Amino acid sequence: MNVIDSIVTQAAGIAAVRRDIHAHPELCFEEVRTADVVAQKLTEWGIPIHRGLGKTGVVGIVKGRDGGASGRAIGLRADMDALPMQEFNTFAHASQHHGKMHACGHDGHTAMLLAAAQHFAKHRNFDGTVYLIFQPAEEGGGGARVMIEDGLLEQFPMQAVFGMHNWPGMKMGQFAVSPGPVMASSNEFKITIHGKGGHAAMPHTGIDPVPIACQMVQAFQTIISRNKKPVDAGVISVTMIHTGEATNVVPDSCELQGTVRTFTLEVLDMIEARMKQVAEHTCAAHEATCDFEFVRNYPPTVNSAAEADFARKVMASIVGEANVLVQEPTMGAEDFAFMLQARPGAYCFIANGDGGHRDLGHGGGPCTLHNPSYDFNDDLIPLGATYWVRLAEEWLAQARD
Ligand SMILES: [Zn+2]
Ligand SMILES: [Zn+2]
Repeated sequence: MNVIDSIVTQAAGIAAVRRDIHAHPELCFEEVRTADVVAQKLTEWGIPIHRGLGKTGVVGIVKGRDGGASGRAIGLRADMDALPMQEFNTFAHASQHHGKMHACGHDGHTAMLLAAAQHFAKHRNFDGTVYLIFQPAEEGGGGARVMIEDGLLEQFPMQAVFGMHNWPGMKMGQFAVSPGPVMASSNEFKITIHGKGGHAAMPHTGIDPVPIACQMVQAFQTIISRNKKPVDAGVISVTMIHTGEATNVVPDSCELQGTVRTFTLEVLDMIEARMKQVAEHTCAAHEATCDFEFVRNYPPTVNSAAEADFARKVMASIVGEANVLVQEPTMGAEDFAFMLQARPGAYCFIANGDGGHRDLGHGGGPCTLHNPSYDFNDDLIPLGATYWVRLAEEWLAQARD
């Protein structure tokens, strides 16, 4: 592996910062302490910072040899927030905040970008500007969207933006990147069926919302199997059905909620329209009515072809072609999608390894993201930081021509 020596030398110090952040997890838009740690480190290394985009966001501004005169700029993004869940780990850096945990490795993402920042500040081996984007609220809060709404791309004009997520189970030293959609759009729906309650022994006197809900759930799946092109990806999951309080009462109403995932906005438009039609017409067929609510949370995360290809070459120069995998798209979602809607770029995975780094006590082996026994693998810090450094240096050099 072709990692940068000086980053390896500094890695232990950065790992200590990572463990400190892990021990003090903060949720969406509450990353005050984490942002303080980031701001303090960047300032210590002589990097000017801007704070407050997306409430707790921090942007570090590193000018290259030319003082940024070329006007070329690249954005590198790390997320900082934790999850509202209880950690099972008992190691020294386990969460000190009850019910909060860095189970998605955003502590590590922050640390890898800090390690790169330290190197950038010292060497400035590029022309143009590197913007280090430390973003709040990836886990459902849409921190990327809020930073953009707060003026991220106007205040810090950049021609491309890149993101990275650790991926448990992939072998240490591997990366994965692909052009096109890599994560799905994430959307929520809530349908309230209005029937007519009554005595369960005399159902003909009411309008029972329960069989209507059952038909609706089945009919939604025919949107996936009959309305969507088979080669397009799409998921409808009804995950909550709430109704009724007694065995002898026909309920008055029934609420269905769930999620819809797609890789394109065209498929999403179709699914939303068809779900509304199916919901309303199923109700009409049974003399009921419904309220149909559909909320679009995150758009699909779509890598631009040129930037994904560029990232792949940089990765290959560090870990070799054989260790740069095809990024298999997942129907999970990621708010970096908003940045990729606004600028070309690529979102990639870096292997978190086979789980050997985790302390024993909760079983060895790989541990999925969002699992209470998860921990970020500190061995990634020099590798992830090397990728950030080489990517920015080479991208800025290329863009100058
Ligand atoms: Zn997560
Ligand atoms: Zn995450």
